[in-house]
Amino acid sequence: MSLLEKVAKTTEPRAWRGEIPIASRYTVGIAGERFFREIKDHARFLGTRCETCGLTYVPPALFCERCFAQLDDWVEVTNTGTVFTYTVLYLDLDEQPLAEPDILAYVKLDGSDGGLVHRLGEVSPDQVEIGMRVEAVWKPPEERQGAITDIKYFKPV
Ligand SMILES: [Zn+2]
Repeated sequence: MSLLEKVAKTTEPRAWRGEIPIASRYTVGIAGERFFREIKDHARFLGTRCETCGLTYVPPALFCERCFAQLDDWVEVTNTGTVFTYTVLYLDLDEQPLAEPDILAYVKLDGSDGGLVHRLGEVSPDQVEIGMRVEAVWKPPEERQGAITDIKYFKPV
C-alpha cells in the first residue's frame, strides 16, 4: 500500500512499513522554565493565580483551566503543605527489595490549589498519615539543577 492509496474502508486495518523521520525535543515550557529557575536560584515555589476563579496553580499554568484566561499574576507559594495521599514502595523498578521503603506522596502546597508528587523523608511508613504537615527540604544551592529533584524530600513539621 502506498501513501497515495485512498482508504475506502476505514474498518479494515492498514499498515505502512518504513520509517518516518520525526525529531522532537521536550521542554518544560514557559511556565515550567520560570518555575524550575526559581527552584534552582531561590529554593522557592512559584504559582500563577486566576483572580476570576480564585485559583492558584502550582505547578504554574499560563492559562486557567476553568475560564481559559491568560495568567500572568505570579505568586510565591510556601514550601509547606499537607500530605493529600501517599504510597509506600518496598520494591524497585526491577522488583528487587529496597534497602529502605520509599514513601511517595502528593503534597498539596499551602496557599495553592495544586501540589507536587515527591518523596517523604525523615519519617517511617508507619508514621505517615493523610493530613500530615510537611515542608520541602532543599539541596544546597551548588547542587541544584533546576529540576524537581532539587527538593531532597518533604519532611514532617
Ligand atoms: Zn480562571
